[in-house]
Amino acid sequence: MHTMREINPRRPDAASGRWRTVRALLLGMLCASGAMAQARPAPRPTPRPGPAAPTAGAPPLAPASSWRAELERTIRRTVLANGLEVIVAPSEGVPIATVELVVRNGAFTQTPEYAGLAHLFEHMFFKANDRYPEPDEFMDRAAQLGAAFNATTREEQVTYYLTVVADSVAGGMEFLEAALRGAQFRADELAREKVVVLGEYDRAESSPWFRLDARIGHELWGGFWSRKNTIGDRAVINDVTPEQMRTIRDRYYVPNNSALIVAGDVDPAVIFTQAERVFGNWPRGADPFHDAPVPPVQPLAGSTGVIVEEPVNAVTVQIQWHGPGASADQDATFAADVFSDILNQPASRFQQRLVDSGLWQGVVVNYYTLNHTGPITVSGQTTPENLREALKVLDAELRATLEPGYFKADELEAVKANRAVTTAFGQERASENAHTIGFWWSVVGLDYHLRYIDEMAKQTPEQLQAYARKYIIGRPRVVGVMLPEGVKARLRLTEQELAGWGVMP
Ligand SMILES: [Zn+2]
Repeated sequence: MHTMREINPRRPDAASGRWRTVRALLLGMLCASGAMAQARPAPRPTPRPGPAAPTAGAPPLAPASSWRAELERTIRRTVLANGLEVIVAPSEGVPIATVELVVRNGAFTQTPEYAGLAHLFEHMFFKANDRYPEPDEFMDRAAQLGAAFNATTREEQVTYYLTVVADSVAGGMEFLEAALRGAQFRADELAREKVVVLGEYDRAESSPWFRLDARIGHELWGGFWSRKNTIGDRAVINDVTPEQMRTIRDRYYVPNNSALIVAGDVDPAVIFTQAERVFGNWPRGADPFHDAPVPPVQPLAGSTGVIVEEPVNAVTVQIQWHGPGASADQDATFAADVFSDILNQPASRFQQRLVDSGLWQGVVVNYYTLNHTGPITVSGQTTPENLREALKVLDAELRATLEPGYFKADELEAVKANRAVTTAFGQERASENAHTIGFWWSVVGLDYHLRYIDEMAKQTPEQLQAYARKYIIGRPRVVGVMLPEGVKARLRLTEQELAGWGVMP
């Protein structure tokens, strides 16, 4: 059984095919350890389409106006008396199902003293528990179930999931429940797992992206950095105690802070009955965010620049702003995704001016939806010779998005249709569907997922421009540049100069 635990290194979506190619080459060159191969793009409500067009096997598309009705017809949910939300997304076809437990935990709950421990906890979930007290016994049980088993830790969620044949779903639930309630956090196992997690840290640190991400992260988030930094702090991981693991479990691993998602070839009524039997006596806990509220992200006081020199060939630019929070400004999150989609279209004016002109090898615009301020990222690659001109034209082009007529009706229609198609594709795979639902449940609630396609379709050019004006144009930002060694001196590039590359309102 292959267990690959992944961690999100805060890498923005690779949205355009061109940039994906650029980045794939970059990773291939620089990450011989393979650590980055585990990196997955930030989850989106709709996975990006592959090169293939929709086939005859694709489900029929509902008109955009009835997307929610379509989802509500298929997705069933209930809430157990202890507060556990149970969500079932049935699909026919392959007789398998994914059982996923999602907990509102992750980096956002971490004070500096806990930086990295949400992820370490995720590893300890797989260790000895009261039902399977011997090391490896638990994983042997997973193998008996024929389960493909995995887990993830991100900024605002931790998930545990297995994909099993459809008639083993109840066994899958029992397996998760045993770990959830009976994990022992044995000191010897914690000591061993700490080494595994430190190994993940070492691999991440050996990537040239690590220092760029970390330095931009410190600048962008300030005192909130530990709550964005999923991989965490080496010293904190090294000094972990079993008591800290128990603190995390007692505070966050309660049914009223969790959801059980089952996607695949299952009957919702049967799943609800099984969930009640397996999880019904898990006692409700205190609201974790009452006792340990998440402080607000402090606005940036001004723009800053970051330069890192690494053994790389190209020049990478990563510019980040504070974007909307998914609860605080939900409408802006829909505008953000349409705005990004249009700018990322290969035929867009933005791509023509920046990439087809030869100034950039690729540029991607991204908003990563999070509840506690999601980052907006513009990232791309250029050459040392083109860097200054590339930044200048990028800023001019971003400013141009505010001009009347910048966004064309046919462009909006095209990206709306694209989102609808890719969403339909995402629902076809049970595991992917479970992850998508789990992500939205944890970050902002299932309702957001149900509304998403309809809200995207309602966006107007004026709403996209209002978003750009509120969050991007002339707003404080962090401009990060990763250069080959020696280029900084040759270009006489300073962080102050980068900080000054602000676009004026
Ligand atoms: Zn891990």
